[in-house]
Amino acid sequence: MVAFTGAGVSTESGIPDFRSKGGLWSRFDPDEFRFERFLADPTRFWAMRGELMRALALDRAQPNAAHVALARAERSSRFLGTITQNIDGLHARAGSKRVVEVHGSALRVRCVECLRFFPFDAARAALDRGEVPRCDACGGVVKPGTVLFGEPMPADDLARAESWARACDALLVVGTSLEVWPAAGLVPLACARGARVVLVNRDATPLDAEADHVLRGSAGDLLPDLLARAGLA
Ligand code: NAD
Repeated sequence: MVAFTGAGVSTESGIPDFRSKGGLWSRFDPDEFRFERFLADPTRFWAMRGELMRALALDRAQPNAAHVALARAERSSRFLGTITQNIDGLHARAGSKRVVEVHGSALRVRCVECLRFFPFDAARAALDRGEVPRCDACGGVVKPGTVLFGEPMPADDLARAESWARACDALLVVGTSLEVWPAAGLVPLACARGARVVLVNRDATPLDAEADHVLRGSAGDLLPDLLARAGLA
């Protein structure tokens, strides 16, 4: 089994998702967070990004029962790991070790010149002064360590996620609207290779018809029991 998670796995940790009713896209314009906007005006971008980060409130969030159940599943050799679209680091904080973060991590920043990664804290002082953070090594402008809209996904992470989707017998899809591509493409990829797809989500998704089983409900309620029944908890 491979798990594939999205923002819905973290809403019960108090982190809002994007597309649910009252989600972040009802308060922010997604276009403000495009890579081109960052390159055109990093000062404005980081000001908006600061507001988004405050709304996400990652510092206060703790892993919930769904993150913990997925971390426990790693004790079994039948569970390959978790591919996540999330940027909040909660799978790792719950104890998951085999995690592919296909959209990067908000806990890091990256220099657009020398491409080095730094912990987010390295940028915090400049952001608190209302300045664009700069790279300690080369002085280049620093961007969030997440994949921005319009920015390609890191090829090595995408390749690893695709190889897991091709290798699994079962893909457990949790808390994602499956609206964001190419990440959503992992579901048809796994289907095409004959994997069973189990979808756990509060709302309908465009790929429900591709799934073998669709469970409507909250990840924190459903996942511990589901993984226990599969002998993975
Ligand atoms: P999304 O907002 O598009 O969809 C979330 C889905 O999760 C919805 O379909 C909703 O019905 C479902 N959901 C919400 N709470 C749930 C719960 N408790 N149990 C089960 N289902 C639940 O999010 P997405 O599909 O992950 O894609 C959007 C992008 O959002 C991703 O690239 C991700 O990087 C980013 N994002 C991440 C975080 C985070 O890291 N926690 C938060 C917001 C957005």
